[in-house]
Amino acid sequence: MSESKIIEELKASIRNIPDFPKPGIQFKDITTLLQNPVYLQTLINLLVKKYQNLGITKVCCIESRGFFIGSIVAYKLNAGIVPIRKPGKLPAETISKSFTLEYGEDSLEIHTDALTKDDVVLMHDDLLATGGTAEAAQNLALDFRIAELYMNFIIELDFLKGRDKLNKNYDIHTLIHF
Ligand code: IMP
Repeated sequence: MSESKIIEELKASIRNIPDFPKPGIQFKDITTLLQNPVYLQTLINLLVKKYQNLGITKVCCIESRGFFIGSIVAYKLNAGIVPIRKPGKLPAETISKSFTLEYGEDSLEIHTDALTKDDVVLMHDDLLATGGTAEAAQNLALDFRIAELYMNFIIELDFLKGRDKLNKNYDIHTLIHF
């Protein structure tokens, strides 16, 4: 089967939940992809193929749905895992970046010793929507003056143009577009 057909099949496995968590939002639920062993393995194989020869040393996984796939990919790439978490969750010294939500503000944190200038970082989250989360996460990683950064998402909601918020000097890759 061609790669585009495989990606179509993965896309069809993602469940749409209308009005979650708020009226008007069409929530893309990846649990229906993750719970299928064949789809899970297919997804991991596609990501490993894309990133395996780039010398990735750390995979930064954005809380919380980024943890699932980011961790498996890190293991497969022989890279370390770095959590990027919501405020107050990481126990040691952190740096923090805030970003705007539809209503109000939120922030993300990373441990101050999580990355070094020699790291080649793969940043992973399940979904890119308005881009605020990914922008904050990208800025956290770039504060460490890392050697290289790759941004990866399983899903991108193209109509929200979240990609426009991200630094264009770094590769951005999404498998499934809506
Ligand atoms: P953004 O900051 O608007 O780009 O939102 C992206 C963040 O919100 C990611 O961490 C996603 O996990 C989460 N998110 C937003 N919309 C959805 C959705 O439809 N399905 C799953 N996660 C979502």
